[in-house]
Amino acid sequence: MGEGIWQDWQRPDKGALFVLTGPSGVGKTTLIRSLLKAVPHLHFSVSCTTRLARPGERDGIHYYFVSQKRYDEMVRSNELLEWAQVYGNNYGTPRKPVQLATARGDSVLLDIDVQGSRQVRSRWPGAVFIFLLPPSVDVLERRLRARSTDTADVIERRLAESRQQMEACGEFDYLVVNDRLDIADSQLQAILASELLRRERRVKWVDDIKAAVVG
Ligand code: ADP
Ligand code: 5GP
Repeated sequence: MGEGIWQDWQRPDKGALFVLTGPSGVGKTTLIRSLLKAVPHLHFSVSCTTRLARPGERDGIHYYFVSQKRYDEMVRSNELLEWAQVYGNNYGTPRKPVQLATARGDSVLLDIDVQGSRQVRSRWPGAVFIFLLPPSVDVLERRLRARSTDTADVIERRLAESRQQMEACGEFDYLVVNDRLDIADSQLQAILASELLRRERRVKWVDDIKAAVVG
């Protein structure tokens, strides 16, 4: 199972929560798609949002597209691990799937903004925070326009707010530049592998080795 560094990979005792943040258009969705293919026992946290689906986006796969009423209800009843208004729409991470996955040793990847990452930092000790940067602001603008799934107004708004998101990159544990896709992908995989090999996630290995050495 798995290729490269993931060959014969063993699931850790404790799963990790990975938070990926970066400005709109930097390439988070694209990189997450390849990470989910490569990394064993990794799940994407499907957020709920009040924004409309883009062409090709599917309910329950990319997002849970919910009404404002349902969203407010989720916030009120504490169903969300974090929530925020981003680029004029509401978003939030359902808490339950994250708890269930990490409890069985699987890991979860969140694609959330800076405000959400701050909430996770205070609510989930041990979460790993990664910020994805564009090679330059010009390149970011080109990518956002090239995606062509948003209107001109929406693109302008996202560009303005993206600068604010980038100012917060100093709060994160890891910084990855998405210039060449394959390099950013390898660097993200290296971060995930290192974090999942931490001794505190491998208590069973320590016990097994001690038992084997004692004989
Ligand atoms: P985000 O999820 O961060 O908003 P996307 O993954 O939707 O960003 O990427 C925005 C656009 O940039 C898409 O059209 C995508 O194909 C393109 N893109 C992503 N990464 C790269 C890259 N390294 N080089 C060139 N284009 C890229
Ligand atoms: P998009 O509308 O392009 O899919 O996402 C816009 C922004 O919202 C991105 O920065 C993305 O990381 C963020 N986002 C998506 N889901 C969530 C969520 O559940 N919580 C928070 N705080 N931000 C989210």
